[in-house]
Amino acid sequence: MSRPAPAAEAVRRGERRALAKAITLLESSRADDAAAGRALLEELMPHTGGSRRVGITGPPGVGKSSFIETLGLQLLARGERVAVLAIDPSSPVTGGSILGDKTRMERLAQDERAFIRPSPSGSAPGGVAHRTREALLLCEAAGFGVVLVETVGIGQSEVAVRSMVDCFLVLLQPGAGDDLQGIKKGVLELADLLVVNKADGELRAEAERTRSAYAGALQLLRPASPSWRPRVELASARSGEGIEGVWRRVEEHAQKLAASGEWAERRRSQARDWLWSLLQEGLLQAFRQHPRIEALLPELERQVSAQERSASAAARSLLEAFQKG
Ligand code: GDP
Repeated sequence: MSRPAPAAEAVRRGERRALAKAITLLESSRADDAAAGRALLEELMPHTGGSRRVGITGPPGVGKSSFIETLGLQLLARGERVAVLAIDPSSPVTGGSILGDKTRMERLAQDERAFIRPSPSGSAPGGVAHRTREALLLCEAAGFGVVLVETVGIGQSEVAVRSMVDCFLVLLQPGAGDDLQGIKKGVLELADLLVVNKADGELRAEAERTRSAYAGALQLLRPASPSWRPRVELASARSGEGIEGVWRRVEEHAQKLAASGEWAERRRSQARDWLWSLLQEGLLQAFRQHPRIEALLPELERQVSAQERSASAAARSLLEAFQKG
């Protein structure tokens, strides 16, 4: 065995700067930096897998960053080290960001035992999720016992986050209407735990009603897991009340799934799915860049949109051209 590169050792010691630098390498658009990042990740792979991976989503303004800060501080107080990663589906597309800037979670960010990394930007949403997954592994190698992955509950990023965590939390606002406040049923189906945040002050009673509404809605869903029924909890990120209870549920969830073997299977299938999604991405890229495809594609695309040729016939011609080359 060769000696690990100094960077890998520094990451393993949990040095935040080394970890940040390693993640930056992986996110880099420069081929040599990205390759160095990948080499580092490979070296660190044997030290990954040890953290509790928790996804947190919810609509803008529901209190995700407040919740993560309060939860994070409570976990630090219990001797845990906490990493927070974010996937912001808006940033690659618009350049703007729904999750906002560095002023979020200020108190948590100041603590040496916490590590906060905003969303990588400048690539496709799929790419952002891949980078986040790799960053998660690096955080594990750096010894963070809890990794929280945050995303805004709009678009496809919830699915991406769900595919990389052990437990998926959906934050809700007090005040559910009939439409369950625009939370798509699909998102509800992904949730292991629902949390009605802002259950404090004047909003407390409303939060109770919201909890009942969602508890009722969950009854109608077929549980995604044979060993766990999703629950609805009340919490206040502002006062801290209920946050400990939420974390107890997260631990209970982990124990239940571990006992049934589902936890290990979930991680295995997530790793396989990730492989396939990387393969799909790579193949699609190779396909689009293939000279014969580049030559054929515009005309075939035009014919398909003009309904002069069926999509299936066009796809077959293209695939044959790709395989021949
Ligand atoms: P995010 O957009 O989901 O990250 O939401 P933020 O954490 O930025 O919070 C949005 C707003 O809700 C802010 O004004 C917070 O002060 C407020 N907020 C967050 N959590 C709570 C809570 O538990 N109770 C109350 N009353 N307000 C909260």
